[in-house]
Amino acid sequence: MSETILEVQDLNVKYGAIQALKGLSFSVRQGEIVSLIGANGAGKTTTLRAVSGLLPFSGTVQFLRESLSGRPAHEIVAKGISHSPEGRGVFPNLTVLENLELGAYTRSDAEQIAHDLEHCFQLFPRLKERIKQKAGTLSGGEQQMVAMSRALMSRPKLLMLDEPSLGLAPLIVAQIFEIVKKINAEGTTVLLVEQNARMALKISHRAYVIETGKVTLSGTGQDLLDDPRVIESYLGA
Ligand code: ATP
Repeated sequence: MSETILEVQDLNVKYGAIQALKGLSFSVRQGEIVSLIGANGAGKTTTLRAVSGLLPFSGTVQFLRESLSGRPAHEIVAKGISHSPEGRGVFPNLTVLENLELGAYTRSDAEQIAHDLEHCFQLFPRLKERIKQKAGTLSGGEQQMVAMSRALMSRPKLLMLDEPSLGLAPLIVAQIFEIVKKINAEGTTVLLVEQNARMALKISHRAYVIETGKVTLSGTGQDLLDDPRVIESYLGA
């Protein structure tokens, strides 16, 4: 079995009086796609933001056996975790190219950066055609491609994707999930947060169900697709 690269134990996060995460634990192994699924407000985004260094937490978060507690976000990126946030977070007034270049701000290896840019354009040929276009004028699906590419430009060991399918047409959603699979097959470990539980579970090696700030179920993607509790609450008819 491959090495655990992210180990989250007993994670607690509060927003003022609201306790959003209540002792949440999960792990991600090298090479996996792991999904966190759950309803609106379950705590999925909060979990990614805590791991990224964007929110204070108690409990332990270890990446490659090193504690991330109290580390600032830029150090966490430099250690190899990148985060494509909910809502995509592209810089609307910058071009596609400028957005992608910002994703590489922790790096100085110009040749490799150029190589990785080309790789993003292979994954998303549509972005190459729009390289000089302002990101704010792209469609939702294209903005999602920019967000994922920008996250890839730091050459992450762990890519965290928050709701990549949100608000996109079914055809684009299917393409985005195919590309997540491809990125993983090329060697990047993926932690995926999704409300589209069916699509997420189909591509995940393992997954966790989060309810009101805690993990309530976990298993392989297939186990959870077959679990009557998941079917009833998250997969519909
Ligand atoms: P969604 O898919 O709707 O984004 P989620 O599972 O990602 O849901 P979170 O966004 O992590 O859920 O929210 C978890 C809980 O924390 C919710 O009850 C939410 O209202 C609360 N919360 C999130 N952000 C804040 C904030 N900035 N201030 C106060 N409460 C917050």
